[in-house]
Amino acid sequence: TRTVMWFRRDLRLADNPALLDACAADGVLPLYVLDPALWDPAGPSRRGYLAASLRSLDAAFRQRQTRLSVLRGDPVRQVLRAARAVRAERVHVAADFGPYGSRRDRAVAEALAEHDIELVRTGSPYAVAPGRVRNGSGDPYKVYTPFSKAWSEHGWRDPVEAPTGVGWLGPEDLAQGPQGVEGVEIPDPALPEGLTLPEAGERAARSRWQEYLDEGLADYRDHRDRPDLDATSHMSVHLKWGEIHPRTMLADLRDRGGPGTATYRKELAWREFYADVLHHRPETAREYLRPEFAAMEYDEPGAALTAWQEGRTGYPVVDAGMRQLRATGWMHNRVRMIVASFLVKDLHVEWQHGARHFMHWLVDGDLASNQHGWQWVAGSGTDASPYFRVFNPTTQGRKFDPDGVYVRRWLPELADLGPDVDPHEPGDVPGYPAPIIDHATERREALARLEKIKQ
Ligand code: FAD
Repeated sequence: TRTVMWFRRDLRLADNPALLDACAADGVLPLYVLDPALWDPAGPSRRGYLAASLRSLDAAFRQRQTRLSVLRGDPVRQVLRAARAVRAERVHVAADFGPYGSRRDRAVAEALAEHDIELVRTGSPYAVAPGRVRNGSGDPYKVYTPFSKAWSEHGWRDPVEAPTGVGWLGPEDLAQGPQGVEGVEIPDPALPEGLTLPEAGERAARSRWQEYLDEGLADYRDHRDRPDLDATSHMSVHLKWGEIHPRTMLADLRDRGGPGTATYRKELAWREFYADVLHHRPETAREYLRPEFAAMEYDEPGAALTAWQEGRTGYPVVDAGMRQLRATGWMHNRVRMIVASFLVKDLHVEWQHGARHFMHWLVDGDLASNQHGWQWVAGSGTDASPYFRVFNPTTQGRKFDPDGVYVRRWLPELADLGPDVDPHEPGDVPGYPAPIIDHATERREALARLEKIKQ
């Protein structure tokens, strides 16, 4: 028998149960489909990272004397073309629980079924697949803490090894026969000046993780909120593209024990929680999880949104975060919360505008974590006390970046401030904008608008 292994956001060979399943066949075609619905809206950082990750996966297959076959177009047509060209009986995937991915997979499964080809889903990008963790009445959890407890109790399987001794099929097999299919090259998009991306691929993910286990994890609990110390793992991008599976990481944390491991596990559980919430409520990728927030009064996005996007609000920690995003495709979690709160509560712009900007630029942009990270900050999400939390960007900056190291790193205008100047409230600095709004005034305004929808 022959199979197709269709890679999507699981760009790795180790601990990949779907790949192991596919490899039970005599011939296996590793396939990636460049889907315009996902590629076209992605910004240069996301495209650049994905392309690099695909090249790394291709390099792993070259070491196995084959290639990753790449097609471009609607997966419903392209996966069927590939499967028919190599006369596959099954197409194997890791299940996708996102709103777009699950719709796409249903359509692909139907198209394949018409030709007696089966779409087989094994595993998912999560330790526990979304939808599995339920409370005593069989309902999904709405808040994080009880979810994470039940998630831990549910447990997950141990990691599995990469397959060996496989009869790989490659682009030449795809091209053969009456229905021959020509693959395309992996794109090599040019990166705009000033953008630097992390190293992509399974090997980079593993070595980053090992290094973090050895050198970073012990301080994780105490330093994770400090953007100046850059003490978090930067594993989000590797998790997003499936260059490592969370199960592998959870097994390492279990084996290691010690400081940082419990806190780190809790953060991985947030990722699983948001995927679960989005699975049950797919419409919350765009709509308010708490429907009363739809009645909130917001301002039309205009110059304020642009200033925020470009890091020119005059609030240093906000601007530093927004420039870090553009320069690296990543932003520290504490700063994500501060900039999101600023957009929604100081500039009164609906969270969807900010979430879209994040998804365009983030290399780790993940619909569930991003949209629900935004909804949490906006107050319309899973936060249990959503109404009164308004971050003060100046005091947040002073608290979590006490020496101004982070803001100076990303704002060259502030690099040479004198020792008497507070980098989080620098006053008149040539080339750096004055604050575009007054935080105290806008905080009152935000609370007044929240009060209206509470009634
Ligand atoms: P670490 O602190 O090292 O955490 C380890 C892992 O735990 C992360 O890699 C991530 O997988 C998970 N994690 C940690 N915090 C969270 C969280 N709050 N929610 C969900 N998972 C978490 N994360 C994304 O992966 N993709 C996104 O698109 C995304 N958008 C966000 C938008 C907003 C407005 C906010 C407030 C948060 C968002 N997050 C998102 C969550 C978090 O900011 C990032 O996961 C984290 O900054 C990634 O850096 P790290 O890997 O160094 O994190």
